[in-house]
Formats: sequence, structure tokens, C-alpha cells
Amino acid sequence: MPVTFRSELDALKTYVPPKSWRMAAEGLADDYAKLTSNELAFGPLPEAEAALSEALPRANRYPDSHVSQLRAVIAEANPGVETGNVLVGNGSSEVLLNALQLLPAGGEVVFPWPSFSLYPMLCAVLGMKARPVPLMEDHGLPAEAMLSAVTPETRAVILCNPNNPSGTYLKLDEVRSFADELPENVLLILDEAYIEFVDDPLYKDSHALALESENVVVARTFSKAHGLAGLRVGYGIAPGRVADYAERVRFPVSVNLAAQVAATASMFAREKVEARAEFAIRERGRLQGAFGAAGLDFIPSQGNFVMVRFGAGEFEKSGILVREGEALGYPGWSRVTVGNSDENDRVIGAVS
Ligand SMILES: *Cc1c(COP(=O)(O)O)cnc(C)c1O
Repeated sequence: MPVTFRSELDALKTYVPPKSWRMAAEGLADDYAKLTSNELAFGPLPEAEAALSEALPRANRYPDSHVSQLRAVIAEANPGVETGNVLVGNGSSEVLLNALQLLPAGGEVVFPWPSFSLYPMLCAVLGMKARPVPLMEDHGLPAEAMLSAVTPETRAVILCNPNNPSGTYLKLDEVRSFADELPENVLLILDEAYIEFVDDPLYKDSHALALESENVVVARTFSKAHGLAGLRVGYGIAPGRVADYAERVRFPVSVNLAAQVAATASMFAREKVEARAEFAIRERGRLQGAFGAAGLDFIPSQGNFVMVRFGAGEFEKSGILVREGEALGYPGWSRVTVGNSDENDRVIGAVS
């Protein structure tokens, strides 16, 4: 008799990375524009690089397990937040994991779909039931339908805002009404991986939702606008009781030394991060303009990516690697990450 595994794992498949990751591993991606994974087109800020070189000789030592400096600068950057409200993790993936780990197994988790592939995976790993709710016909987040999907079994609702891969978002007052209408015993996880790329001036200080309530966690990351995807570090803002419990389930040293110092330095230099995000917002507009001019269907985006009805194979012929829509619930479409000017020129050339 073989070892018995948990049956809910049978349906899980190992993560299929974008083609560009496989090509890069084989040294075949060098001549391509890599616009698959919503990474920043630029390396870490010089401030982050300097902090990394300064810290490397100390890599024989464990880093600060409490991640105090990073928590302090995150608190400083978000008015009203104290370090006791800050969650940290090995990527915001771990922050999402830790938040869901607090909830009783067997319950349900409601989230929009298509959305981030990690959500159903975390549900399976944690023995929770995934309740995906289809996006609206215009690809918008289905706020009403998600509220209707809540049952007495619901333990958490994940709102990916802006949503990956559609790029659509709920305005801040819509998120606030959504949070207000949710039963207090349901945890609302607001995944704001792309918040830096939202150009709606009214979408500001959304972290206050976590301070005004007992059941809202905001998750953010250094993987996108901060350009630190390779170091794996993310954070969350939560009510004190949630943050306290999240710290109980987190691996004691889940955020490594390099990640801690680079993220801290990058957060101190956040005006520069904002300037880079503004560049991505302008370039997103340029891409969307070109898609529109070419008569292609695209979804106006608030992220650093745009979904467009144009095949990944066609982009590849022009030396551009994008995320295949098939993998994201959008067959025939591609998710194009906003790149640097040259890369975006290449995208515009490919569709024009
Ligand atoms: C990229 C992304 C994240 C960030 O994941 P990390 O683990 O921080 O790299 C989280 N949520 C969504 C929706 C994303 O697209």
C-alpha cells in the first residue's frame, strides 16, 4: 500500500511557468522582450542595490526574524499604521497563505475568476473550498455576485484589486461598501499587488480599510513596482488581532536578509518607485492607444499589464514573449506586461 495523500491534492498540478521562464532557463530568451510576468522592466533602485552589497558579508548570520526595520518603514509610509498592523512574508504569496491559514479548514473562500492562479491553489493546499465567481461581461469585478456567493460556510473573500489578469478594478468607495456589506466573521483579503499602477486619484490610503475594521487585510508586494520579484518579499496591513495571529503561523525567518534590506531601502526611496510607476502608467496608455488604433479588443487596465485579443504566437514572431491567454482563462488573448520604451515600441510595431 502506498502512503495515503490528502485527496484534495489530487486535482492540483505543478505550476506551469510562462514559456519565457523556461526559455530563460535554457538561455534561449536573450533576444526577446520578456513581457510575461508583470515584473518591472528596470532593476532594483540603486538604493536597494547598495543595501544588498552592504548586507551580503553578513549572510552567514540569520536576519532579524521580526523584520523590524522593514515593518517600521511600511508603517511610516501608511498613515495611521503601527508596526503591530504590519504583516511580512516571502512574497505577498506568503502573506495570503498566512491570512488563509488563520481560518478553520473546510470552509469556503470566494474570489473573482479569472484571477490570480495562487488562490485556488492555496485553497486546495489548506483544505478549503474554492468558490470562484465569474467576472462580469465587461470583465469588471463582480462585487454583487461575490457578496451573493457568501454563505454561512464562507471564511474569506479575496478581492484582487486591480484584478490580474483583467486589469479591472473597483473604486475605493466600492471597495468600502463591499467591505461594509460583508458579514463581520468573513475575512476580506484585499490583494493590492498592483496598487502603485492605479491612476485614479481617489484610490488613496486604502490601507485605512484594515484599520477601520476587524476583518480586512490588505496585501501588497515588492515584486511589481519595486522591481524586487527575484528576492521574494511582500507585506500586509491588518487589524492588530489579525496581524498577531498571522505572526503565529509565519515561519520564524521567512523573509531573508537580502529581501529585508533591499525592500527597506526601496520603501525609503518610495518617491522613485512612484516615478517608475508613473512611467508604466504613461506607457500603458501608449500601448492601449496602439491596440485601439489597430482595432484590437483590449481591456482598459489599472495594472502594469494589458489584456489584448492578439495571440501570443503572433507576438513571439516579433520577438516578444507575453503570457498566453489560454493559461489565464482568455483563449486567443495575451496579457502584455508594460515594458521599457523600446519593448513597448516593439509591441506597438507587432500589432500595427
Ligand atoms: C504578482 C502578484 C502577487 C505578488 O506575488 P509575490 O508573491 O509577492 O511575488 C500577488 N497577487 C497578485 C494578484 C499578483 O499578480
